[in-house]
Amino acid sequence: MSYFIPFNDLTIEQLENNLTTAIKDMNDCVSNLAEESTSSWDNIMQPLQHHLLVLNRWWGVTEHLQSVKDSPELRVLHEKFQPQITELYVNLGQNKALYRHVQAIKDNEYSHLSPERQKVIDNELRDFRLSGITLSDAGQQQFKQIQTELSELSTKFEHNVLDATDSYSRYVSLDELAGVPADSLNFYQSLAEAEGKEGYKISLHMPSYLPIMQYADNRALRQELYYAYVTRASELSNDGKFNNASLIQDILRLRNDKAKLLGFTDYAELSLFNKMAESSSQVLEFLYQLANKARPFAENDMLELRKFAKDSDGLDELMAWDIPYYSEKLQQHKYSYSSNELKQYFPLPKVFTGLFALLNELFAISLQVNPEMPVWHPDVTGYSVIQNDNIIGYIYFDLYARSGKQPGAWMNSAADRNFDNGESRLPIAYIVCNFTAPVQDKASLLTFDDVQTLFHEMGHGLHHLLTRINNPAIAGINGVEWDAVELPSQFMEYFAWNYQILQTITEHSQSGAVLPLELFNKVLASRHYQSGLMTLRQLEFAIFDLRLHSEFNPLTDNYLQLLNEVRQQIAVVIPPAYNRFANSFGHIFAGGYAAGYYSYKWAEVLACDVFSIFDGKSGSELRQLGAKYHQEILSQGSLRSMMTNFTAFMGREPELDALLKYSGLN
Ligand SMILES: [Zn+2]
Repeated sequence: MSYFIPFNDLTIEQLENNLTTAIKDMNDCVSNLAEESTSSWDNIMQPLQHHLLVLNRWWGVTEHLQSVKDSPELRVLHEKFQPQITELYVNLGQNKALYRHVQAIKDNEYSHLSPERQKVIDNELRDFRLSGITLSDAGQQQFKQIQTELSELSTKFEHNVLDATDSYSRYVSLDELAGVPADSLNFYQSLAEAEGKEGYKISLHMPSYLPIMQYADNRALRQELYYAYVTRASELSNDGKFNNASLIQDILRLRNDKAKLLGFTDYAELSLFNKMAESSSQVLEFLYQLANKARPFAENDMLELRKFAKDSDGLDELMAWDIPYYSEKLQQHKYSYSSNELKQYFPLPKVFTGLFALLNELFAISLQVNPEMPVWHPDVTGYSVIQNDNIIGYIYFDLYARSGKQPGAWMNSAADRNFDNGESRLPIAYIVCNFTAPVQDKASLLTFDDVQTLFHEMGHGLHHLLTRINNPAIAGINGVEWDAVELPSQFMEYFAWNYQILQTITEHSQSGAVLPLELFNKVLASRHYQSGLMTLRQLEFAIFDLRLHSEFNPLTDNYLQLLNEVRQQIAVVIPPAYNRFANSFGHIFAGGYAAGYYSYKWAEVLACDVFSIFDGKSGSELRQLGAKYHQEILSQGSLRSMMTNFTAFMGREPELDALLKYSGLN
């Protein structure tokens, strides 16, 4: 088989055959393991890793194609295989024979294995423990029941939020919408039209809610909408029909039970077990420390806003529903620039040339178009990644929006680096974006957000491609702690905010000029606008989340009381008493962020801290730093902990100063 996936002539039938074979081989492999009498790497891990790799490759291709080139046939295929794959993975985690083999390898062969293979074994055992397999039969029974209940409660939570959001709508006339921009008006009109109604329909969904809060001069309308929004899924709306209050208490109680069953003190300890952060007390200390630093800036932000509202409209008291409105106006007043004007400086080919030059400076790599890499669409280009005349990996760029492609931007693995178990494969990455396609012979112009997105995804791509780890299970981004995985991506983003770099990636579409410093300073000032307030808001959520999953007793304590307490401690804006924000906080009650919301700020601290060392450097100094960063952080996969990587590069543990500086909080 060729090195690359034959995207250009891969048929649905072939994909289906490959998946069927891969699943069968995987199941045969698992049955054989049960019969196997010798517990050794070669007898157990090697065949297991091999079959998983083949299965992941074809399933990865299926998911990839569905997200970039969807079709009814592909959807049928995906729906057919999805349950089988899920079941296969669940069964693998619950496979006692396999668990006993891995434990036996740990007990006997372990000390003779390479450090990489040792790490793979440790990870396997950790995951087995977290899947409940090490519990007694009764314990396992209880564990399964908790898991099922938790998943039902989370779904119910999400549905309540959605139903509560959907239940509200309001039809208004044009004169009630003074101040709202034309594109939003068109949107509201189309919502009404879709129901065969005259006028304008507003709802609580973000694209509908936000423009009212930011732009509507009608204060009473803002107040009404605010109340409806912040009381969603509580006893204060829909006669309590979608009230999430008891669900929240139940979710917290069950999470606590689950953690205790697995031998942890509380749910936060369980959540942090495979993350970079070490303990709740460490995270809380970090969050409160940051809150103390940000608070004076947030107080200033509020003073300025109050004064602005007073001066412009004679407002004596700034209420919660006035804050987004005057914030928007003040920002316009102070930092307005045209994003269309800014866009003229970022023709895509120039941004690419500049980015590639930066990568060459930092990591001595070059990217060369590789016409032998089969593509799934004519817009896609494959590149070889070359270092010291050797190809070390491959990367696909699929940059433009088109129908059949999912929105957003992401980096994904098409193949993991694999030089273990007798295999030899280089890593392959996909970078997918949704930029505006070029029209005729005019280059596509990127927004500044697009540019940051490209740098961000490139950061993930480098983490995947520049690994030197040989075992695929821990190579590149695989197994990297969840709260550290955004370090390399956010690190790259900071280069897009560096004026020195900006001069190399900008070229005005007509004049050919680089981005003027004056315009850049406006954009930067605008980025730092209300940085104190926004930081405190994120910290309020993060502290609430962590304390909720550690010190909080779900049987006796009340979550609203805890949220109030956190607000009293750190917030400069105390919302009205009826605010039930927690009742729709899906990130932690229905999403994957429970005792993990802090990770947004955590990753930012790491990325800023590392970037600050590169800031202002050039030439050989920059190259040396790049090589060290590659060696200590990018190349390591998840062989070592990210804290070890970080301290190896920085010579110390993370500090807040750089984050404060780059957020304008200094
Ligand atoms: Zn990312």
